[in-house]
Amino acid sequence: MSTGGGGGGLRNTARLGWALVTRQRLPYSINFIVTNRCNFRCVYCDAPDHAGDELTTADFRRALDELTAAGMARASFSGGEALLRDDTPELIEHAKALGLFVSLNSNAFTLEPVIQRLAPSLDLVMLSLDGPEDVHDKVRRQPGSYARVVAMLARARALGISTTAITVIGPWNVERIPEVLTLASELGFWAYFQPAYRSCFDVDGGFAASEPADTFRRMADAIEEGRARGRPVGVSPAFVRRLRAGPEFGDCADCTAGHYFATVMPDGTIVPCHLTSGRATYPNGRELGFARAFAALPAVGPGPGCAISPYQESDLIFQLDPSAIVAALRHMRPAPVTGRP
Ligand code: SF4
Repeated sequence: MSTGGGGGGLRNTARLGWALVTRQRLPYSINFIVTNRCNFRCVYCDAPDHAGDELTTADFRRALDELTAAGMARASFSGGEALLRDDTPELIEHAKALGLFVSLNSNAFTLEPVIQRLAPSLDLVMLSLDGPEDVHDKVRRQPGSYARVVAMLARARALGISTTAITVIGPWNVERIPEVLTLASELGFWAYFQPAYRSCFDVDGGFAASEPADTFRRMADAIEEGRARGRPVGVSPAFVRRLRAGPEFGDCADCTAGHYFATVMPDGTIVPCHLTSGRATYPNGRELGFARAFAALPAVGPGPGCAISPYQESDLIFQLDPSAIVAALRHMRPAPVTGRP
């Protein structure tokens, strides 16, 4: 798996291979939630309710430096809305200068002024897309937001960035997956899907859908039908198999979160993943140092597993699932534009 390019990429891959063989922890892939603040109030998201203390620019730069020295090869920046912080572009550029594979999750509303500047530093952009325009703008409670997402998907792709969209599924859009996949064919982005949880920070709190098993089965059917029709589906076949087994996805205790991937919260706390961030008292990198905080992470413990697609794709990769590895490699390049068949 490419990580950041050149000799550094090979060195990081070898380091990961050794860590997997010897079952040692390695902070290979880190998600930085730089803020929980957001300019939207989407119907399914409680992240803005958790806004609070945030690391400074210098703290985040230090986190990037220390975790890179400890083996980080991939850094993603997310929120809330990551671009509400004025220093997010600087942090992205710093991560790229360190040789990392860098991605940004955004709702796209304020992406236009910085996309050109960020293009040389971004390997991948993941934008939130909640369905066709009528659904998206209603769920986002923001007229005009769909138009900006579509414009930024096209613009990022034109700048050579691999573009993906993530659609959070609930009763409001479970029937609209085929339309998202058609748009993906027309614009050339990889389409990811995941179910909406009642809380972004509580894997035990259940789902937005009242009949989750039925919702997950319908999701899986629509995604696999799209794949069979040649649509640029982002989630791997292994992820869809896990999704179909929901609402029990396995066991958090078997997940590689906290072993090979983790999340830095806005205040510097390192957690295995944000959905388990309330389950224990986790170490803070600002106080301990970020590499030491990662090494001190307690085990997640038993839990229902999850269907958060970036986390599950990471877990599948670190469990050496071939379909997830192939999907990740494919998605480092923009999806083909195949148009409406
Ligand atoms: S399965 Fe892994 S990523 Fe998902 S909630 Fe459990 S520990 Fe977190």
